[in-house]
Amino acid sequence: MCSNNNKTGVSAVLTPPLSPPSVLQQYECAICKAIYKSKAGLTCHKNIVKKYNERREDLYTLPSEAITEFKAHLVHVIQNKLKGIFLSRVDKLFLFLA
Ligand SMILES: [Zn+2]
Repeated sequence: MCSNNNKTGVSAVLTPPLSPPSVLQQYECAICKAIYKSKAGLTCHKNIVKKYNERREDLYTLPSEAITEFKAHLVHVIQNKLKGIFLSRVDKLFLFLA
């Protein structure tokens, strides 16, 4: 049986660390340059990216005309949004100059 001279019964011996703190190792995705603290995090990231890059069989394919039309609508909406921002800045410039 071990003898214990500590009154509380808890051994409180401080020992120095066995080795110096290890250098923080980082794992970087070669494609998007995202940095992870662990190799498991990087592996998880790669698995998620791989999952979303695989073509699903249950998705239907749109005709190319529908895709072209959708892109045209999208460009139109973006241009209108940018035009509003640009005009508001021009208005402010004319107010500043007047
Ligand atoms: Zn990545």
